[in-house]
Amino acid sequence: MDVQKSRREPHALSLLHSLSTRMNLSTDDERYYNNLRQGYSGECQFDQMVSDANINCLVLNDLLLENNHTEIQIDSILINQGKLYMIEIKNYEGDYYIQVDRWYSRATNNEIKNPLLQLKRTETVLRQILQKAKINIEVEALLVFINPQFVLYHASPTYPIIFYPQLTRFLKKLSGDHLLAKDKKIVEYLLLQQIPKSRNVYLPKYSFEQLKRGIMCPDCGSEFIRKTITELACETCGYVERIDDGIIRAFQEFRILFPDETFTTQKFYEFCGGIVSKHSCIRVLKKKVKLVSCSKKSYFHID
Ligand SMILES: [Zn+2]
Repeated sequence: MDVQKSRREPHALSLLHSLSTRMNLSTDDERYYNNLRQGYSGECQFDQMVSDANINCLVLNDLLLENNHTEIQIDSILINQGKLYMIEIKNYEGDYYIQVDRWYSRATNNEIKNPLLQLKRTETVLRQILQKAKINIEVEALLVFINPQFVLYHASPTYPIIFYPQLTRFLKKLSGDHLLAKDKKIVEYLLLQQIPKSRNVYLPKYSFEQLKRGIMCPDCGSEFIRKTITELACETCGYVERIDDGIIRAFQEFRILFPDETFTTQKFYEFCGGIVSKHSCIRVLKKKVKLVSCSKKSYFHID
């Protein structure tokens, strides 16, 4: 297996994770956050299974592409021997049923979006992108249900679906094949077609003043207390972290929350809630970013 593009935690998920520890999310935002988290966890499980299967194929994860102002996001592409598998991963849990092409949750009888329609739409745009470059490759679009606790009633065997118990078998099928020179060219082309940022991602509104200060526990999200000169600790779950590591995490969080903000030492110190000294902040961050001092203010310059 040759991963040509690896998966990273989606920006919206990192942001919501941070916000969830520093403010009260609305019910809708909370649901959105949980869906993102569950989706990402399913995608990572899929990656692990592909990796364990040790198959001979090229892998592109989490591609964002566009054609004629229509944006598509593809969870995973596997290419081997002149065939492209476009994979949409769903981490649904529980019982669902299909009735006249509409999908419902059995627990609530509420209708959900038909994921096969989304799959079709994504496949069409991907085919258009390939046609534009006169790339002739067989494309198979598949919906993978990664959760072993998912059941779908009234699913036709002709649907392009792989359920969890079928996944290992499907991956095994790819294991004996060889890569073609053409496969690599297609990967290079798709990587070049990527767009940097989605226009369709919803992000909640917040301000610096509104957010809880402090360095939060990476395990449970509670606020850290100072344990010793060199350590921070969580009173809720007992997690202990070196101050330097805590500062670096807080710095990464600050950058996600306020990418456009002038990053002054004072502001970052306030963000950490006074649990670490300004001197410690400067000492640790100096290793990561360039510190610029002008008159009384010092701020970090990020290239
Ligand atoms: Zn904790």
